[in-house]
Amino acid sequence: MQVKAPRGTYDIMPDDIYKWHQMEQIIRRTAATFGYAEIRTPIFEHTELFERGVGDTTDIVSKEMYTFQDRSNRSLTLRPENTASCVRAFIEHSVAGGVLPVKWYYMGPMFRYDRPQAGRYRQFHQFGVEAFGSNNPAMDAEVITLVLEILANLGLHEYELHLNSVGCPQCREVYRQKLIEHIRPVKDKLCTDCQSRFEKNPLRVLDCKVASCQEAIVGFPNMYDYLCPECSEHYNRVRNILTEAGISYMHDNQLVRGLDYYTNTAFEIMIPLIGAQSSVAGGGRYNGLVKECGGPDMPGVGFAMGMERLLLAMNNLENNMNDPKQIDVFLALLDEKYETQAMNLLSGLRRAGIRADRDYNQRSTKAQMKYADKMGARLVILLGEDEIQRGVVTIRDMQTRQQSEVANETLIAAIKAILE
Ligand SMILES: [Zn+2]
Ligand SMILES: [Zn+2]
Repeated sequence: MQVKAPRGTYDIMPDDIYKWHQMEQIIRRTAATFGYAEIRTPIFEHTELFERGVGDTTDIVSKEMYTFQDRSNRSLTLRPENTASCVRAFIEHSVAGGVLPVKWYYMGPMFRYDRPQAGRYRQFHQFGVEAFGSNNPAMDAEVITLVLEILANLGLHEYELHLNSVGCPQCREVYRQKLIEHIRPVKDKLCTDCQSRFEKNPLRVLDCKVASCQEAIVGFPNMYDYLCPECSEHYNRVRNILTEAGISYMHDNQLVRGLDYYTNTAFEIMIPLIGAQSSVAGGGRYNGLVKECGGPDMPGVGFAMGMERLLLAMNNLENNMNDPKQIDVFLALLDEKYETQAMNLLSGLRRAGIRADRDYNQRSTKAQMKYADKMGARLVILLGEDEIQRGVVTIRDMQTRQQSEVANETLIAAIKAILE
């Protein structure tokens, strides 16, 4: 029996969970202020959905999926991302027939069989949004603004926003041919991946991480110069909205998304604070995706952000997150024979919403005080013979080290007053 989590997975231990709770709360609250509602889709889907909705030529689908046969021989896959599932839900529930646009967000674990490295796991967490039913450039700007607002609310004010347009299938086809013509004479200098994919998918060569590929294609034609009038107009409007909102960005000719259902805006957001692996969010428009998955012709735009990366960035900030202590009140039992009184007292505190705990391991009074301190209790209630006789308890404030006596009837009000 192996007592070790599978490679590429990890436990979020109770000591660290507050960071996740705080991050999640800020994200949820910010998404809600933008009018996004949460959707929760299954952790696994039919494999075919991802082959279609993510694209079977992508690394994600060809190399990184956790695919398995269930007991009825269906091919199922743990979701490697959540956009395809949202599109499936959008189609399945005929959402297009209702009021549009719809704005959804999701948050949860995704699964990719990737080589684990710093900040990258095989089970990792993403937050993302999908807005279906509007082709308005203002919607593209809204989803970008939402990412930045979340980052700011998490205390991450320094970012780099990269922006590009990948056009539409019509203008991109012209560009693709130009790009292939540019690459073909230097194809021997490309990495093996790029050599095999450049005819089919030349855009992927633009964002290849291999340095020699980048050297080989220097002077490549830019999509920007080939945008059709509508795509050009769309891109310029997105840029104008961002500029007027005071959001700085850089146009990035190498920011591309290789599949046909991606259209117009593509963006990526980096946080210099976490260095080389600095991309925390990426997204853009995918006007062809809903149709590709068997739904109506429906525009969409969205993004996904990696939550482990966000946390990594937040850990670099000072005093950004505070560890909420485990409990507010510790009940020190001075004699075991007062078990019933102790239980009643604890129940009363807990029902009043006060986080309260006690000793279960017959510690001495002194050891109970130490234990209370360890659990971060602000107050300790001392319950002994004398107190019970007189219908009072002694409260010890662990911060000021002062003790006071309080009558049972006013105990909860007194504790709440101190805790506030
Ligand atoms: Zn176009
Ligand atoms: Zn390459």
